[in-house]
Amino acid sequence: MSEKKNLMEGIGERSSWTGITPGGFVYGSGNSEFFNTGDWRTRTPVWKPDNCRQCLLCFPVCPDSSIPVSGGKRGDFDFGHCKGCAICARVCPFGAIDVVDGIADAREAQDGLNGREALSGQGGQPTRKGAAE
Ligand code: SF4
Ligand code: SF4
Repeated sequence: MSEKKNLMEGIGERSSWTGITPGGFVYGSGNSEFFNTGDWRTRTPVWKPDNCRQCLLCFPVCPDSSIPVSGGKRGDFDFGHCKGCAICARVCPFGAIDVVDGIADAREAQDGLNGREALSGQGGQPTRKGAAE
């Protein structure tokens, strides 16, 4: 398989208007791996492996392919691309995904959940602010 070319190479948040494509047009598909779009997130899902039964119902509903699966098992979220839409938390039948407000670091958020009130069974709704502060 040929290596994918980053068609947006050289374009970043500090590019001037002359440095971007006409109209901000994104040429070609499959560029998301070159950009960390997860920093748009305003909420963060937190996976609780102890509750997870690896049913994989969350994996196909993620619109950003941010739930990695390997060997038939899911891993922790890809926070470089997760948008915090909370769909995964909505579909999880086992309360294995909570959602906290803000762009929480996954480990901090997990530690916070372990050390503070449990948020399972909240249907993926944001339940408290500043979880990662
Ligand atoms: S919150 Fe949304 S984008 Fe993030 S992993 Fe869940 S379904 Fe995917
Ligand atoms: S839906 Fe819930 S229990 Fe099933 S794999 Fe995803 S996190 Fe685990």
